[in-house]
Amino acid sequence: MKFYVIASSSKGNVSYLETGNKKILIDAGISYTKIKKALKDIGVNIKHVTDIFITHEHSDHVKGLKVLMRYISPKLHMSLGTKEALQLSDDEVNVIGAFEEFIIEDLNVLPLPLSHDAREPLGFLFSNAKSKIVYITDTGYLSKGVLERIENATLYYLETNHDPYLLTNSTRPYYLINRILNEKGHLSNYDAAYYFSKLIGKETTHLIHAHVSEECNTSEHIEKTYIEVLKAQKVDFSNVTFIEAKPDEPLEVIELWKYI
Ligand SMILES: [Zn+2]
Ligand SMILES: [Zn+2]
Repeated sequence: MKFYVIASSSKGNVSYLETGNKKILIDAGISYTKIKKALKDIGVNIKHVTDIFITHEHSDHVKGLKVLMRYISPKLHMSLGTKEALQLSDDEVNVIGAFEEFIIEDLNVLPLPLSHDAREPLGFLFSNAKSKIVYITDTGYLSKGVLERIENATLYYLETNHDPYLLTNSTRPYYLINRILNEKGHLSNYDAAYYFSKLIGKETTHLIHAHVSEECNTSEHIEKTYIEVLKAQKVDFSNVTFIEAKPDEPLEVIELWKYI
């Protein structure tokens, strides 16, 4: 599997996953032109995208979707709540449900229920014979049911939104701080590091810090928290490459089969 993070922040989110003949976008939260260019940079024609998975209806995840659908006609996958929030019709969408696993060619997809101030947000576990990718962003916490299904994945794309101290001492209005901190908000560095310490396994080679707040987080805060938590949990993370996703700059393509 190839995995390519195109953009990740509260300004816009898009990633790309490729396996076999399937060329898949996850979310479409930046403009069609930018997505097209980012794909062209890695030799992929946007017209060849076969599927799009949408996590939820917030604009930083769907801003580019309408225009995109004017130019290309991939299969759209999302929850019923997201479909309704986006006012899409039945024939436009393949409705998927939490924990209802399905297969597209050699790729298994397990939608994961999340907790966020959206209608029916989902994360995803994508797996083929060789590797597993966990894609989780925009959630206040992870349930036990989700955690036990996503252990020992190859790559985790995991929200690491804010440092709680920087957030509570920011100039943001109180209601917004509360919205981010509550159980339907976003994962803090501590939350993400703690969950990762429980999930990491022998197969785990990559962790991508996703949806990092530009105002209420820094790379130093993320690193410090992760090291502190992973050491306290006595976790060996020496085989894991840690990468921070960027708001405006795509990351390099990660080719997972190399690591099997
Ligand atoms: Zn978001
Ligand atoms: Zn959101």
